Parts: sequence; C-alpha cells; structure tokens
Amino acid sequence: MSDPTQTLTALKSKLLEIQHLKDAAALLSWDQETHMPAGGGQTRAEQLATLQTLAHAKFVAPEIEDLLLHLIDPATGLANTGAGGLDDASKALLRETWRDFSRAKKLPSNFINRLERESSLAQQVWVEARGRDDFLQYLPNLQTIIALKSEEIDYLGYDDCPYDALLDTYEPGATVSQLQPLFATLRHGLLELLAHVRECAAPPDDRILFQTYDKQQQLAFGELVLQKMGYDFNRGRLDLSAHPFTTSFHPTDVRVTTRVFEQDLPSCLFSCIHEGGHGLYEQGLAQAQYGTPLGETLSLGIHESQSRLWENTVGRSKAFWMHFFPLLQQYFPSQLGATSMDRFHAALNRVKPSLIRVEADEVTYNLHIMVRFEIELALIEKQIAVKDLPGLWREKMQEYLGVAPERDADGVMQDVHWSLGALGYFPTYTLGNLYAAMFFEQACRDVPALETDIQRGCLLPLKDWLNRNIHRYGRQYSSDDLLQRITGCTLSVEPFLSYLRTKIGDVYGFTINP
Ligand code: ZN
Repeated sequence: MSDPTQTLTALKSKLLEIQHLKDAAALLSWDQETHMPAGGGQTRAEQLATLQTLAHAKFVAPEIEDLLLHLIDPATGLANTGAGGLDDASKALLRETWRDFSRAKKLPSNFINRLERESSLAQQVWVEARGRDDFLQYLPNLQTIIALKSEEIDYLGYDDCPYDALLDTYEPGATVSQLQPLFATLRHGLLELLAHVRECAAPPDDRILFQTYDKQQQLAFGELVLQKMGYDFNRGRLDLSAHPFTTSFHPTDVRVTTRVFEQDLPSCLFSCIHEGGHGLYEQGLAQAQYGTPLGETLSLGIHESQSRLWENTVGRSKAFWMHFFPLLQQYFPSQLGATSMDRFHAALNRVKPSLIRVEADEVTYNLHIMVRFEIELALIEKQIAVKDLPGLWREKMQEYLGVAPERDADGVMQDVHWSLGALGYFPTYTLGNLYAAMFFEQACRDVPALETDIQRGCLLPLKDWLNRNIHRYGRQYSSDDLLQRITGCTLSVEPFLSYLRTKIGDVYGFTINP
C-alpha cells in the first residue's frame, strides 16, 4: 500500500475496533462503580481483564506495526517521506499513535498480567489495612508494587531520571528536572501566603456549610449548575458513586458521578462542578476523530486543568456566586436565608492545613502533592525504603503543612493511587492547577465580558472558549505547544500564585506584593 491516505484509513479502522473494546470495558467499569451488585465483583474483574488483554493484543499486532512503518520513521517517531501528502493533523495522529504503540510494545504481556493481578490484590489489602490502620499488613503488597514499577521503568527506559518514565505515562514530556524548580517556586509562594493566613485573627467561619442539607435538593442544585455550564444531558448523565469520577465512551455519551452527604454542602456541589469540567472536555472532543489520538484528551494535567478551572477558579469565585447564591438560598432558605453572599464566599475559601489531600483548600492542596512527589521520587531512586514510609510521611507533613497524622490511615495510606501502581500521577494535579490559572487569564483577555457573563450566570462563553482553544484538538499538540499557542507563554507558577494572592487576600483582608 503506497498511497498514504489509504494506509491512514486502514490504520484508523483498526484503531476504531480497538476503541470499541476499550469503551465496552469502560462501560463495565462505570457500571461496577454505580449499579453493579457487590456479588458481581469477581466476574466483573475477569470480564474487564479479558477485554483489556484483547485490546492490548490487537494494538501491538504486526498489522498495526506494518501500517505505521509505512508512514513513520521509527528513529524519530515522526511522519516519514511516505506520509508526505498528509496534512499536519494526520501527521500528529501518526506521531501519537506511534508513541502509544511503542510504549505498549515495550511492556511484555506477562508483565502487564502481573501488574494487573498485583495491583488488584494490593487494592483489596489497602482497603482492609486502611480500615484497620495497619500499615504493616499493607507493606508487602506495596513493596511488590514499587518493585514492579522499577521493572516497568527498565522496560520503558528514560533519558535523565528513572521517575521521568512514570511521569511520561500521565503527562507526556514532563520531567523531574522541569518540575523541581517549578515546585520550589510554588512552595515558596504558598508558604508565604499561608504565613499571612496564620496571622489573621478572625478566619472565615465555615460552619454554615456543614448544617443539614436535604440530599435531593443538593443533587437538584448540582444538576442545575451542570446544565448552566453547558454539560449536555442528552449526551451525558449524573449518577452516584463512592468516589466521584467522569468516564466517556464517545463524545455523545459522557458520564459524571457525584456523592452526597447530608451535612456537607461543598462535597456534592464541588464534585458536580469538578466532574462537570472533566465532562465538558470529553463532550468537546472531535467526534470525527473518535478512535484516534486526535479524539482523545491530551494529558492528565490538562484534564485536571479543566475540572479545577470550573471547580475553583469559577466555582469558588465571587462572580459565580453573585448569580448562584440567591438561587442556592431558594433551595435552602432555612440554612442560608440569613447569610450574606460575602460570608458564604469566604466560608468556601477558608484556608486551613489539614491531613487529608482531597479535603484540602486551594492553598495547601499543592503542598500535599509535593509531599507525595518527593516521597515517590526518593522511592524510585531507592534512597528510602518502603517500610520507612509512615515516619517519613509524618516528617514531610510537619515540614510542609505544620500538621502530622497520628494514624497511618490519615497519612501514608490515605490515597488509592499507589495500590493501583499509579506512581508519577500526583504531580499532574498540581500541573492542572497551574494550567488552569494560565488558561483562565487568557480566556479573560480573549473574552473581555467573561467576568460579567459569569456574574449573570452565563457560563457558555467560557465553555465555548475552552471548546475552541483546547477540547477540539485532542492530542494534536503537546501540552507545552498547546499552552504556548494559547497563552504565548511557557508553564509558570506566577499566574496561579497571583490568582491565589488576590482571592485569599480579599477573603482574609491582606495584600501581598510579590
Ligand atoms: Zn479531577
């Protein structure tokens, strides 16, 4: 086959079949988290493993490699002269497919099986050990996972630092040498902010958020906000799950979940907005590119930038609540009728160092990520032993946040990530915050009425900006290139810090001049 267009068409139809298998698996996973009876767990794990193994085998098959080698130079990973007639988007499609293919091929299927089995086991032990606050019970499983990750790094290879191989799985192109100076500057700025917060004699009172709020009313309000954000319920739905998440089987079927507690208003509300941000990204992907990398989200950091932009930059802003607070008061007149919007907004933005990452405020959240990043890095570089983690965790928490857990369940065992083998994942949360601030700054420049639109509850201009500038490209550009195209700048912590200084300074009544 010499015509590059024909070769590309043949490749796309192979990729489409693989996508169908992956999406069938994703639907089974969604069902597992939302509707499946508990007894179905064992068989469901086997069904999922079969589909995933099939998808992997179809992807690393010689036919795909043959098609790719017609159009790709394996030495550079870029389109070769045979792809000369193709446009830039098609060349990007080939580049990204080759990236996925060569990574998938480096991992022996025997290794994938072991990792799947061990992480499934580790997750079960983690749940039990965490419940009993027993790190020693979890220790052998965690040691196995860390050893498997080292093995994975050997298969994948790296240029500079072993941890880069793991980072690259979630945030293509990110490296330790790029993150370390960024995180150091960010840490300095956050600690400075935190020092100002600590000096404040009268912090906001957030008890109004933890009164009794009817669950159905909370869900109805969450749905209203999702609708206003432009989340399309004709191509999506909202369900309940223990841990909120977003999944997609196609841009026409994107599902979000939330959880709801009677005495915790922020939990359901901000899960809806957060997952809604993820959901808008998935609904905004190019349908015509379904099955190819151009129809996929770019990286975890970019994905998280979408959820955090909506949850924090918009959802915790005064502009947003100018429209939505009077509505919320109508839903909960006895709880909020006598509260002012300013007081409510201040309560939502209270800063308080705490032990649990997922409950952290915007200032301390990234310090939790830094603790994990440094520990993961030291583990992978074999500078520390897995058995020493509980003590190291306490030391780092004390150093970064000034608090340390008594129980390992509230410390080193609080996150599911390590049991799943997801090392190198945490830094993408912080990257998401940094991207979000840069994107929002640019959106405000491009759409001068954005702030007043949000004050009127008109959120679609922001959604449209995100659709146009980010969502529709899928993986056509790298994260760095996309950021550069949109903002003209490289990744920086300054927009995020300046956003926080303004907002937290306003809530707490101080000014910081950087
Ligand atoms: Zn998220």
